[in-house]
Amino acid sequence: MLVVLVLLATVLLRVAIITAVAYLLLPRGAACPHCNIDMLAIRNRFFDLLVPALQRRWCVECGWNGIVRRMQRTPSRTEARRPLIPS
Ligand SMILES: [Zn+2]
Repeated sequence: MLVVLVLLATVLLRVAIITAVAYLLLPRGAACPHCNIDMLAIRNRFFDLLVPALQRRWCVECGWNGIVRRMQRTPSRTEARRPLIPS
């Protein structure tokens, strides 16, 4: 029984390490990783509820889209007027 618990603990530890590394490798904030301009947020209620720390974004300039780490900041006036693209 102890062997099963040790193996289960190592599997859970591996999953936790992989999750942390994958989270840290994601780009941070609303700036595009290629052209460094603000990207538009692609809203998805299910994804926002499931993983609130991450956000899907799309770059109008170069077309890059992907998942980024959500940053806490107040939107500027120009960002507040931009329409959000529903998924
Ligand atoms: Zn871009």
